[in-house]
Amino acid sequence: MKPTVRTRIAPSPTGFLHLGTARTALYSWAYARHHGGQFVLRIEDTDVARSTQDSVQQILDSMDWLGLQYDEGPVYQMQRLDRYHAVAEAMIAAGTAYRCYCTPEELDAMREAQRARGEKTHYDRRWRPMPGKRLPPPPEGVQPVVRFCNPEDGIVNWDDLVKGAISISNHEIDDLIILRPAAADAPAGSLGVPTYNFAVVVDDWDMGITHVFRGDEHINNTPWQINIFRALGAPLPQFGHCPIILGDDGQKLSKRRGAVSVTAYEEAGYLPEAMLNYLARLGWSHGDDELFTREQMVQWFDGSHLARSPAQWDPAKLAWVNAHYIKQADDARLARLVQAQLASRGVLADDLVQLAQATALFKDRCSTVVELADWLAMFFVPVAPAEADLQAHVTDLVRPALHSLRDALAGAPWDKAGIAAAIKQTLAAHGLKMPQLAPALRVLVCGRAQTPSVDAVLSLFSRDAVLQRLQHV
Ligand code: GLU
Repeated sequence: MKPTVRTRIAPSPTGFLHLGTARTALYSWAYARHHGGQFVLRIEDTDVARSTQDSVQQILDSMDWLGLQYDEGPVYQMQRLDRYHAVAEAMIAAGTAYRCYCTPEELDAMREAQRARGEKTHYDRRWRPMPGKRLPPPPEGVQPVVRFCNPEDGIVNWDDLVKGAISISNHEIDDLIILRPAAADAPAGSLGVPTYNFAVVVDDWDMGITHVFRGDEHINNTPWQINIFRALGAPLPQFGHCPIILGDDGQKLSKRRGAVSVTAYEEAGYLPEAMLNYLARLGWSHGDDELFTREQMVQWFDGSHLARSPAQWDPAKLAWVNAHYIKQADDARLARLVQAQLASRGVLADDLVQLAQATALFKDRCSTVVELADWLAMFFVPVAPAEADLQAHVTDLVRPALHSLRDALAGAPWDKAGIAAAIKQTLAAHGLKMPQLAPALRVLVCGRAQTPSVDAVLSLFSRDAVLQRLQHV
């Protein structure tokens, strides 16, 4: 019987949730859901100096915002130290790991000598127990590291779910440090914090992980991990290494080149379903489909059709995807997002019903919630029309009509039909056409010359607000 599919995402809490990690989280989640399996969140916090609680919180918030529900976790590696120590002790006892007492100075000298001989630098296995080899007594006052006895010969190969067959010779890799030294003042024999390649194997083994999706910057780590799995007699998961995401300039997507965190996109007014859709497509395809729901993704994502080469981040396409989801989104939900966006600008918009009505009118022309808020702010704060717009549209020709319209609006029933009738009556009285009057009205009331149907927009303001904005023409 095949084991239940179990996947995981294992971010290090040293910053925000990177878009690349979000994408592998999405693939891992979708793959587990597709197979009716489980998805686990693990926090790889063994880089104690760089890990922060703030970053853990950002990761949890981003996972939550994206709606990538995990079935287990978050599991924190630093809470599992005893387990790594127990596994390392067992490996030492079994002869697949050993203590190494080299000081940093010795290691430097070793590498220096290797370079002088024109060799590639590597650890020369001086503390590795071998049949017939006599090791020196452990030096006083040196806290050892624990190293893995990597096989000396042979080839490590695996069939990568993304990249296909990969093989690396064991000659290329040396005896990896699996536990760092214990603190200088720890009692002799104490064990230190595990390194990534060791903790990841113990965890993937203990958690029964069957499929590992991660960024291809880890391809060089995988041979070590496979060797450690084998040394432990643990079942090997399948690996899928996804190519990095490139910025729109073809360089690695990085902070210097724009937003790389999930949080930044949330703040910029993108919807989580749009991010998921866009991230999914960035490195995976299902025919020519560009827009699909989470459910479709789960239905379709079987680990095939993952791209081998890097995808390029395309802000215009993301905006297009987001615009699609904004059009589809419920107005009341968008209204709450706009409310929060306006609140962050110090604008109080407490009437959610009014906001939802305005949202319905404007959402078709917006690709982000921020753009929507830019529009809807006019209902809550005074507008400042551009001088050029005033000159172009609020001309002497229309000024008398604006005065009459203001009077007509003062007594009109305050709804779309009532406002439309007042405008029509004014146009007739002044012999003007709608395209002559409407832009002036828009510039004065909304601050911009183009808006959706002017009677509908005006009806969302209070009568007083409109009369006030038409006061000084
Ligand atoms: N902590 C590693 C990272 O954030 C996890 C890599 C893995 O998935 O094995 O890159």
